[in-house]
Amino acid sequence: MDEGLVSVDKFSGGSQAYFLTHLHQDHTRGLGAAGGWRHGPLYCSPVTARLLPTRFPAVDASLLRPISPGASASLSLSSPSTGRPLSVLVTAIPALHCPGSLMYLFRGDLGCMLYTGDFRWERRCERARAARKALLDALAGDNVDVLYLDNTYCHPSLNFPPRPIVAEQIVNIIQAHPDHEVIIGVDTLGKEDLLLHISRALKTKVIWVWPQRLQTIHLLGIDDNQEIFTTQTSLTRVRAVPRYSLTIENLDALNTVCPTIGIMPSGIPWLWKNSEGKAKSKSIRCKGLDEGTIEMDYNPLSPPKLFEKDSYALPYSEHACFAELKDFMQTLRPSTVIGIVSTSFCYVNPRHHFSDLCGDNVYSDKTPEKNKGEDNTVLTPKKRQNGSKTPKERKAKWISSPNLYRSRVTMKRKECCGAKIGEPEEPISVA
Ligand SMILES: [Zn+2]
Repeated sequence: MDEGLVSVDKFSGGSQAYFLTHLHQDHTRGLGAAGGWRHGPLYCSPVTARLLPTRFPAVDASLLRPISPGASASLSLSSPSTGRPLSVLVTAIPALHCPGSLMYLFRGDLGCMLYTGDFRWERRCERARAARKALLDALAGDNVDVLYLDNTYCHPSLNFPPRPIVAEQIVNIIQAHPDHEVIIGVDTLGKEDLLLHISRALKTKVIWVWPQRLQTIHLLGIDDNQEIFTTQTSLTRVRAVPRYSLTIENLDALNTVCPTIGIMPSGIPWLWKNSEGKAKSKSIRCKGLDEGTIEMDYNPLSPPKLFEKDSYALPYSEHACFAELKDFMQTLRPSTVIGIVSTSFCYVNPRHHFSDLCGDNVYSDKTPEKNKGEDNTVLTPKKRQNGSKTPKERKAKWISSPNLYRSRVTMKRKECCGAKIGEPEEPISVA
């Protein structure tokens, strides 16, 4: 919104109200500033409010304004330029990304704006149907003037099956390796449903997680009887480890002790493939998917290797894929759309693909000059104006290499005192 009014996932001060969509690190910049959060009321979901003190102990709890999915709150703001009072109604919409994630719909004197944050929109899943109803009810026939959209996977080749289907594929891989240890790369929050699904499918039912992850799981009210998740490695062959720990180096080391496979449940490896121009889509029919075929370049019975051996990349994504983004755009037909992921090494302006679904129907945007006019069949890394490679672009060049993992692990070890999955009983500190 206008300068000095409302900030979403931006906590540098200077606004009258602040909104946090979810607790992933790239959405909380500024919240951990020295001296703690003091700038103003901070709206978030009740789940996020519960987890927030463990990540940001210095945040003043009296400033938290939990808002439940589907609920609305009135904001009384004043114009920074004229001092005129402004009335805005904000409604929280489930974002179906990670626990506690929300979209925010703002309606009132400043028009109608929707900020999706990171979101997933699996059209045939019950939860997405309920979220869609909540959104349409909140809109009450209004048109969205500005849509701030999660454009992480805004490219026609990036279509993923719904999460329950990929979860089943992951279980199949684990069951096809009965004598292997299994490590699964996950973030500090999210993919709990996947881990629960794996647990239900396994005889042992137990999954190792690192201590902070266990604390988060308990705060989420998952596994209250403490039967599923453990920090004792001897109880299970399946471990959920920090995503950055799933490296070729670590897998090699683990395989010298006992046979181990790694599983990366994420859409990101598919983004890398696409950025390298290697993706070749073919239609596959996903069992149980009544939408018919999905354009994917892998066979779920033989998914691609993350590294050369011992590891698998499966598109269990918590971001909307292209077909879902298109469906979302067709549902809302906003006047204009702005991608919220502008710092991705592969940036696609959603207007490139969806300008015909926008009211103003103009493809005039902030796309880097170099990208304009290209057919976008391959995601194009951002270029600097002088043509030199950005640090992000340099990363894209070697992103599929094991060096990335080595480098990130080195970096994380410096930042966080190490993630040594070879010595899993040692506490792992994760930012
Ligand atoms: Zn996120």
